[in-house]
Order: sequence, then structure tokens, then C-alpha cells
Amino acid sequence: MIAKTTVKPTARLIEVFSAIQGEGLNVGTRQIFIRFAICDLRCHFCDSSHTWNAPSVCQIEGSPGLRDFEIHSNPIPLSTLIKWVERQNLPFLHDSISLTGGEPLLHAPFLAQFLPEVRSLTNLPIYLETGGHRPEQLDMILPYLDSVGMDLKLPSVSGESHWTEHEKFLQICFDANLEIFVKIIVSQRTDPGELERAALLVNGICQDIPIFLQPVTPLAESQKFSQVAVEAPTPNQVLEWQALMKRFVKQVRVIPQTHKMLRQL
Ligand code: SF4
Repeated sequence: MIAKTTVKPTARLIEVFSAIQGEGLNVGTRQIFIRFAICDLRCHFCDSSHTWNAPSVCQIEGSPGLRDFEIHSNPIPLSTLIKWVERQNLPFLHDSISLTGGEPLLHAPFLAQFLPEVRSLTNLPIYLETGGHRPEQLDMILPYLDSVGMDLKLPSVSGESHWTEHEKFLQICFDANLEIFVKIIVSQRTDPGELERAALLVNGICQDIPIFLQPVTPLAESQKFSQVAVEAPTPNQVLEWQALMKRFVKQVRVIPQTHKMLRQL
């Protein structure tokens, strides 16, 4: 008789830390960030290219907000990550736990075991930041999510095209009654026709879903890997695009990355 082996779930992480959310619907709230390694997209504007592959080590904050990082070897066992999150979870401090990356849904089997446990231990809502192109993986963790910020990648800005997946993904979130918003990075190269298509896509699911237009933050020289220029849009462009999209959806807000203004990690 062959003995049954149980594989302990592990994750490849970049970092765990406590910070103020700088983007989208939860802007200004305090979150425990769990940044997962690995991404399968290659957006031109990516400011997290260090997350694309799994590093051998990750950095883990000892005390919330102090940036007193410890270095640990990847992969990380589920029980260890739970302990690190509990250590961050001081009374009354955090509004939610942010799953970010990379693409967190590439860790869906791990999350399906991790999320129910961390939710019941911390009582904190779970917020997922995602490229919105993996609806099958979303299905695996849907019952454990409270809110989702879905990137809708415009081909003219990101170099990625995932219209069908985005639509399916957003519909699943809406049907599950999650708090949802759509984030669209815009640059000087944005094709207004794609913005109209994005607004129609959201309108086709629910015109009340908020859209956040996020002017791209120009990348530092050291982060540039793409030959495609990623310049922030002009004020006139942003005003025109907001007006265009508001013909189809009720809330179109323009908010840049505020955590960079605060000079947060
Ligand atoms: S999905 Fe996010 S992490 Fe992945 S390439 Fe695009 S911006 Fe970078």
C-alpha cells in the first residue's frame, strides 16, 4: 500500500509590510500588504518588474510601518505567513489585508487554503489587486474575498490585450456581490477608442461599478525595461477621457498613485 503524502502549501513572496493604500477605491486606508512573486504579464508601465520571477528570498516587516525588514528564504509555509500577518495585526490599526504582486492569482491553490484561516484569525476584510485576466483562478478563492480592484489593461498603454478575460472576470465579481472597482492606467499614448470600449464593457455589467483612471507614474531610469515611452497624459487628455467615459458609467475618478506622493515604500 502506498502511503498518502500531504504536500504542505507554500508561497513565493516578495514582501509583507503595513502601509497606506495609494490607489483606487481604498486609497488612504491602512492595509497589511502581502506581495506575491511571479507575474505572467509584461505591462510596458510596470513599476514592479522585480516581482515577475520568484526571488530566493523575501523581506518581512517586523513591526507595522517601521520598515524593520527581516530576510527569509522562499518558499514560505502557510503557517509562517499566518504568524507574520498576526504579528502585523495590532488592534484597531488595519482596515484590510491587500493581496498584491506580481499576480496573486498565480498562487490561487495556496490562497484557497490561506484565506479562510487568515480571515478567521484577523477578522480583516480581504482585498485582491489583480490584472483581471485569470477568471478560473478567481473562482477558486471567490468565497474568501471582500473586495477586488481589477486592472483593465489597455493595449495602447500596457501592450497587453485581455478584453474577453476582463469581461468574464468582472462579471464573476459582480455576480458574487463583491465590492469592485476597475483601474485603468492611462498615458499619453492612450487610444480613446479603447477607453470607450472599456466603458462599454463595464456598462454591460453594471454602470455603477466605479472606474479609476490612473495617470501613469513615469518610471525611474533604473526601472525602464521597455522601448515604449510611458509619459503621463496631459491635463486636457485626462479631462477629455473622463468626459468620454462618463457617457457610459456613473463614476469615473482620476487619481494618481498617492503613495508615491507620500514617499511610501
Ligand atoms: S500585471 Fe502588474 S506586476 Fe504584472 S506586468 Fe503588469 S503592472 Fe507589472
